[in-house]
Amino acid sequence: MIKLRELKINEPRSGGIFLSYRCSGSCRHCMYACSPEWSEDWIEPEKIEGVMDYLSEKIRAPRMDPKSVGLNSGLHYTGGEPFLNYNLLLELVRMGNRFDIPGTFVETNCFWCGEGGTAVERFSELKEAGLDGVLVSVNPFTAEHVPLENTLAAIEGGEEVFGSNLLIYQKSFLDRMRGKGVEGTVPLERSLELIGSSMFKTMEMLPRGRFPYELGELYSTYPAEKFFGQCCKEELKRGWHFHVDNYL
Ligand code: SF4
Repeated sequence: MIKLRELKINEPRSGGIFLSYRCSGSCRHCMYACSPEWSEDWIEPEKIEGVMDYLSEKIRAPRMDPKSVGLNSGLHYTGGEPFLNYNLLLELVRMGNRFDIPGTFVETNCFWCGEGGTAVERFSELKEAGLDGVLVSVNPFTAEHVPLENTLAAIEGGEEVFGSNLLIYQKSFLDRMRGKGVEGTVPLERSLELIGSSMFKTMEMLPRGRFPYELGELYSTYPAEKFFGQCCKEELKRGWHFHVDNYL
């Protein structure tokens, strides 16, 4: 039995702000079950302002530099796909900058990075507004609906504008697909044919949200009783990394 006084939640040090749960695609593994079907309930800047003010005292950048970025530090703008509402993203970046929040970056699946140099243009504008970096999201599930060329365009633009503050998650998948000369979008089954089931071993897999419904067969299943008596205290106390969504 967990005693309430033992449940002191750790102070937040890093986290993300969801612009909405709306996304350009519906990845089979999405832990928030995002998709184009979600309504456009975008986060309201006036509602998040007080949260940003509070977080400005708590958020920590990676140790080496307040302007550097890291997966588990600083503040990221996410969803869903933030670039579906670029003007809102820009407004939030400006707000984060006003509150001097360190280590800020945006996560994107790169659906919007087609031909035409849009990536450099938008990344430059966001940097000018105070954004420190970008995280390019690429994996066998985003690759089902985002052409690899878009991902590469985002990486090129991200390197040009943010330099070492470009994060690629998960780069090992991208490298393997490039090694096979793959272009365009790739169904999961094709990625598995090309790389083999070892593909999953090198990936971080979080079986929540849509994942158990779409990919549950990858795991053994047990009745709920099997988990009775296990302690979830550490998970409940893990308050240092958080997400604030658009339904605050
Ligand atoms: S791109 Fe990201 S937010 Fe969108 S469905 Fe895939 S995992 Fe979810």
